[in-house]
Amino acid sequence: MIYLDHAATTRTAPEAVEAMLPYFTEYYGNAGSIYGLGSASKKAVIRAKQTIAQSLGAEPNEIYFTAGGTESDNWALKAAYDTFRDKGKHIITSKIEHHAVLHTCEYLEKQGAEVTYLDVDEDGMVDVEQLKRSIRPDTILVSVMYANNEIGTLQPIKEIGEIAAEHDILFHTDAVQAYGQIPIDVADCHIDMLSASGHKLGGPKGVGFLYISKNVRLRSFIHGGRQERGRRAGTENVPGIVGFEAAANRAMRMMEEKAEYVTRLRDYLISRIEQEIPQVKLNGHRSMRLPGNVNFSFPGVEGESMLIMLDMKGICASSGSACTSGSIDPSHVLLAIGLSPELARGSLRMTLGEDNTMEEMDIVAKELVRIVEKIVKQS
Ligand SMILES: *Cc1c(COP(=O)(O)O)cnc(C)c1O
Repeated sequence: MIYLDHAATTRTAPEAVEAMLPYFTEYYGNAGSIYGLGSASKKAVIRAKQTIAQSLGAEPNEIYFTAGGTESDNWALKAAYDTFRDKGKHIITSKIEHHAVLHTCEYLEKQGAEVTYLDVDEDGMVDVEQLKRSIRPDTILVSVMYANNEIGTLQPIKEIGEIAAEHDILFHTDAVQAYGQIPIDVADCHIDMLSASGHKLGGPKGVGFLYISKNVRLRSFIHGGRQERGRRAGTENVPGIVGFEAAANRAMRMMEEKAEYVTRLRDYLISRIEQEIPQVKLNGHRSMRLPGNVNFSFPGVEGESMLIMLDMKGICASSGSACTSGSIDPSHVLLAIGLSPELARGSLRMTLGEDNTMEEMDIVAKELVRIVEKIVKQS
């Protein structure tokens, strides 16, 4: 099997599994209990916050564990609106956000929010001038993702953060695809809130965090016990948190080396496809791009057919975003960068990880050439 869907999820790293196991069987105490067994769990959570805070240039008490990227995005947006709606009801986001942000914005619109969805250019880059023009006296929040999950484009986060800060507007970024892949510094980029998820970087599924700057007092999201300082109640997912920490540690340690290696695989695969398959179109920015992201449109070819034929060869890839596959709607991201619905349906995303090899890239390129020829001949 050749796994090329690391943007959908990753294999849990052996270090993460190993770190988690004792917290199921041995140190299973409730982190809120005062006896020794409980304090072992509590210590593990405190240590995980220190590790993660350090990886972002944040402080441990600014890290709140959640059940993943979707919850973190929901919390950031809903609580920001809930907390600051008296100040204003205008939110600015982009047209290429993950559905965890976009569908939350749609929900907030029903609650009375007004949302501006920024355009992106043909590379998927947010228009910073349009952002400046969109700011109103009642704008309370800007939410723009760090890196796009479909086309890999990296946004000018520091510039966006500076603009938001100048206007005293909260800035949230969905960094689920970026965290652990590229360096992030929340202070340098004026980020007030940041979402991340464990399973995208070699951690377990169902655990993530929301960074909330200590300067921001958001309302609680999940009401209940006093966990996470009362802002996100519920018994801590200690094994998940420990697994996330191990994965984050590993990702930070390997980051430079991994990014270099995966970028080399990416650029090789891109150049082979461009050389050997006529009329393909690379989606996303050529250089301001996640190390592992390859996304192409193949004119006259159905993405779903390619996926099925790749699967028969043991190759796992995705067409558009995983959340939309299974439905025939073309990806909102590909439409936003100006693709026709037909071309958007003929797109293929391959996201690489450190376990992939150059040999696999050769196999994938060869199979793709065959598959595209076959589909074109049949039609
Ligand atoms: C995967 C993903 C999410 C959702 O994270 P979960 O932990 O799966 O809920 C949110 N945003 C982006 C950009 C993602 O890639």
